[in-house]
Amino acid sequence: MIIFGTRAKTLVPKETQSYDCEYCHTKGSVTFAFIARYFHIFWIPIFPTSKKGISQCSHCKQVLYAHEMSPKMKQDYANASASAKRPITHYFGLFIIGLIFCVIIYGVFTNSMNETKYLANPAVNDVYRIEKNGNYTLYKVSEVKSDTLIFKPHNKVAEKYMKLSELQRKYKNDYSDETIKFTKAQINSMKESSKSDFGKIYSIERE
Ligand SMILES: [Zn+2]
Repeated sequence: MIIFGTRAKTLVPKETQSYDCEYCHTKGSVTFAFIARYFHIFWIPIFPTSKKGISQCSHCKQVLYAHEMSPKMKQDYANASASAKRPITHYFGLFIIGLIFCVIIYGVFTNSMNETKYLANPAVNDVYRIEKNGNYTLYKVSEVKSDTLIFKPHNKVAEKYMKLSELQRKYKNDYSDETIKFTKAQINSMKESSKSDFGKIYSIERE
């Protein structure tokens, strides 16, 4: 089964103008035809590849490729080529890739905006993802004071950052009753530097 490769579509110039044949000198017997190729995966167009055309005389049947045409004919060929437009669907894959890219950028941007907001105005139950001594865990805000935050650390520690989502999902309420305090200055240093003695804040989430 062919799952990717190139496919071709015949393009019809918008101006179906015809030209005089330079070989048999018949008036208006020459037309141009174009083939546009595109790369596909599972028959879904991803991006355009080549576009090639020929001229054809309906009288003497002479067929010419672009490099065989006279300068005058090359000009006609260029005009016909410009009016034989590829369908926009040949760019479908590029469009989707662009869209995914925008969504990721938007996500990263809003995340960072939100974290700045959560950092400036902490709330009870905000969850901080923390790295400390090469391990990862969660701190949950249990009390907010004017210049201090009081956290309940999670009872479990993960060896990998990716495992934190599992802790949040499976052991949602498994937080210690013993609390730890950080001043807001300490929290800021934990957000900015990985060398903070108190650990590093990777992200802040609010439900
Ligand atoms: Zn001809």
